[in-house]
Amino acid sequence: MLLATRCPNCHTVFRVVADQLKLRNGLVRCGTCQHVFDGRTELCAPPEEIADAPSSPTVAPTPVSKPQGPRASIYDAIVADDEPRFTTPPGAPANLDAAALLRHEDKTRGGGFTSAPLSARAADPADAPPWLRNSARSSKGVLWVVAVAVLTLSALLQLVWWQRDALAAQWPPLRGPLMQLCQIAGCRIAPVRQLSGLNIESTNLATEGDDSDAQGQHLLVLTLFLRNTSDHAIAYPALELTLMDASGTPVVRRDIHVTDYLSDSEIAAGLAARSEHPIRLRLSAHSTTAANYHVVAFYP
Ligand SMILES: [Zn+2]
Repeated sequence: MLLATRCPNCHTVFRVVADQLKLRNGLVRCGTCQHVFDGRTELCAPPEEIADAPSSPTVAPTPVSKPQGPRASIYDAIVADDEPRFTTPPGAPANLDAAALLRHEDKTRGGGFTSAPLSARAADPADAPPWLRNSARSSKGVLWVVAVAVLTLSALLQLVWWQRDALAAQWPPLRGPLMQLCQIAGCRIAPVRQLSGLNIESTNLATEGDDSDAQGQHLLVLTLFLRNTSDHAIAYPALELTLMDASGTPVVRRDIHVTDYLSDSEIAAGLAARSEHPIRLRLSAHSTTAANYHVVAFYP
């Protein structure tokens, strides 16, 4: 059966059938002002001009003379039995489903209702019904999820970037992909700094010759082996040589940096896994009275 509903925005009254209202939970779009509203809450008595204009192609309602059968739905019940009733407009196929009927009305009347997916034709969200506002809220939720995912991914990438040396050392299969990433990002995979994987062995300190040089400096020769006990390359450390007197008090302390005893390519490659590197350094010192010495490795 046909009902009538009034657009709350422009107050145009349109015919509507109960099936149309059921199709989209009552949501309809005004063909005149495009306003979307709940047609069920705006049901009204069809005005006389609609009822009295059977020849009009836009409305063409026909009063129903014979009594209605059992009520099809609660929407039928909303309209009092004594209100005028309307049948399908002329030209509309008799057994169209609701969606087809809507399309037909849209085509023949220009004005009227459409029930195309509202999200695709959504009007201003401010005057959208709660159903549409809920959909806007849920798309906002999706945006949040995407934003959180992007932030998490970028945080993860930063962590990988900072820890790239350790990652490449700990998981050799990652080394290739990390190096490719570094080619793009303009970084490089350096040997990891890990003092715990380094041993200083066979240390020896001797004076060279028995005379001081012209400036009264004595030449010392430090020899040692630097051993990597780990399964991956480790960055060469700097060394600190401390000379102590008989009482154990440090008298000379000398830092030896990697550039003092290694070439650039050796520094870049690091000390290979399970390998050792002999170091021999000639140093000058003001005093050879040192009774003892020790060497420690460190990263500056
Ligand atoms: Zn309207």
